[in-house]
Amino acid sequence: MKTYESTIGKIVHILNEKGIRHRGKPFPNSTVRDILRNEKYTGVYHYKDEEYRDIYPQIISKPLFDEVNKRMDENRYGRHGDVLYLLKNKMYCGCCGSVMSSYEGTTSKNIHKRYYCCYKRKKDGACKKACIRKETIETLVVDITINALSDPSNLDLLAEKVIEEYDNEAERHELALLVKEKKAAEKALENLLSAIEQGIILNSTKERLAENERKVEELDRKIAALQNAERKRPTKEEILSHVSAALTKNPFLMIRTLIDRIILYDDKVEIYYKYISTGPAGNERRGCSFYQTTAQIPFAHGRGQNTRSNSLDVLLMI
Ligand SMILES: [Zn+2]
Repeated sequence: MKTYESTIGKIVHILNEKGIRHRGKPFPNSTVRDILRNEKYTGVYHYKDEEYRDIYPQIISKPLFDEVNKRMDENRYGRHGDVLYLLKNKMYCGCCGSVMSSYEGTTSKNIHKRYYCCYKRKKDGACKKACIRKETIETLVVDITINALSDPSNLDLLAEKVIEEYDNEAERHELALLVKEKKAAEKALENLLSAIEQGIILNSTKERLAENERKVEELDRKIAALQNAERKRPTKEEILSHVSAALTKNPFLMIRTLIDRIILYDDKVEIYYKYISTGPAGNERRGCSFYQTTAQIPFAHGRGQNTRSNSLDVLLMI
């Protein structure tokens, strides 16, 4: 695999063209990302403190694996070339759910402009979501965050909503079940590893190992998400001081600290704030609005002067 110029989307496209399937279906981007991130393809497998070198064959060299992972780390946050995109990997299309990627273009008057556009729209025109100027949306998100959260009554509401989210009985019960399930899966994994150590390596053993490993990883993710939500409930003072400290940082750090994700529609934008410094629980029931306003933004796609403007409802959510 080439390390240059290949995005995950391109890799998926190549795999699809060659008819290479993942469990009978086209590869999802997330699976390709997981594969590129998974150390076991270098032939080394870590479980707890043990290192195993004879379970999986090496199919990628360690230097290439490291190079790919370094690139992925670099691309993960805010940059497109030399330009900082505040909302990169934070903003999603309200019409189709794709990420809003960074793009550059030159107008007929040779003026360079930067945008966020729906990835699906750019890729194959399958979405009709209008692109938005980089400066327009970034200024709007930064200004509204500062204005709204500098007002004590909005901050109060945000803090109350955060505290409500931490008080959820049903989640506590679910957590206990998941921990029990994880213990059983770990036991099964240990039994398989000891079978391998004793030289019992059948194809089915390896398949079961991979399957159990996936199960433990998935349970780990679910448990971490729930624990994050359940972690000692923050006090109102902690929430207020966290938000105030974040507001005094530069815009990039403020966005990274306070904003979980942004969903952009043509007539509405939802800005989801993180629960508190540890970040969101990642569950689906988030969606309480604590502040609402309307903003006027210039049209993104007219060439030349932007003389008209769009009215955009802005919802601040946790
Ligand atoms: Zn879209």
